[in-house]
Amino acid sequence: MVLQSGILGRLEEGATIDLRADGKAGSGLVMILQTFADAVSRGGIYQSQEWPFFSSARKGANVRVFLRIGKGPIHVTCQIERPDIAVLVTERTGTEIDFAGGMSDGFYVINTERSPLEIAKSFQLRGEIFTVAGDRLGQEFLGRPIPNISVLAALQKALPLISVEQLLEALTETGRKRRLADRYLLANQSCFRSSLKEVRHATVLGEEGWTHPLPAFAGYRGYPIGGQSRLRTSLTNQTANYAPPGRRLVFSDPLDRCNGCSLCIFNCPEGIIEFEPHEKLGVRVTGAKSNQFCKLCRECIEVCPVELFSEMREGA
Ligand code: SF4
Ligand code: SF4
Repeated sequence: MVLQSGILGRLEEGATIDLRADGKAGSGLVMILQTFADAVSRGGIYQSQEWPFFSSARKGANVRVFLRIGKGPIHVTCQIERPDIAVLVTERTGTEIDFAGGMSDGFYVINTERSPLEIAKSFQLRGEIFTVAGDRLGQEFLGRPIPNISVLAALQKALPLISVEQLLEALTETGRKRRLADRYLLANQSCFRSSLKEVRHATVLGEEGWTHPLPAFAGYRGYPIGGQSRLRTSLTNQTANYAPPGRRLVFSDPLDRCNGCSLCIFNCPEGIIEFEPHEKLGVRVTGAKSNQFCKLCRECIEVCPVELFSEMREGA
């Protein structure tokens, strides 16, 4: 716990430990963060707050989860922009979004075959780096390359607030709630225990000039995000009706038809519509960062009055 004394000291001072996790939908990311939040708040010492940025996504889309842990009630509800711990469950996500955005140094928990030093160099990270080969361990113990249980083990190594047995108990309960058969519950436990032994750690100071290769999303200042079109009302109820994998969003405005109505900006649940100030229109939309968190929920397609958004098959 010597390594973690600084981060744990925050709890004694009344602050929270803030964690942000990124990965692909289908990687089990949401499940392990729920488990961890549940486990740490069981003993009555800690309280936790955990929520996915966008809970229901088509397989393969990037998903982000936030977790705050404190010693008292947690009242703040905003997204975590300066995390103490960044978790990367799917390595490829790290090439698509700045999973380390807002961190100068800190704790990183990463699913990768690479060593802490190699991955730190690749993403230009400074701090305490924990890695685990989650895909390989998932294949070995669970029969498919699902990394979440190994990442949970690496998280336990990075932030040992509770005992391994307490965390395993919570993991088993989560599995039961999801109606996993006993053999899968046992496989999860074996995977977790073996993963604990395989977690690698290094303290990386970095090199001069290291910077995150991807800029963090800057936000929309005063604009609210997350309006809902008729697609998500109780009448149509298409909350989870996203496009299948293999399709992507396209924005095209060769005739400058965007009228600046801002409906797409307001309705996009992920806040990834790009725009620029415009003298007459106020704003003019220039595209969408669709390789980031786009769920192809079709809100922008639905609301754009001049039909500038569409979807197409990848590679078409
Ligand atoms: S489909 Fe449009 S509204 Fe939906 S997440 Fe993608 S960019 Fe945002
Ligand atoms: S909804 Fe269409 S017209 Fe309105 S701001 Fe967005 S792109 Fe422009």
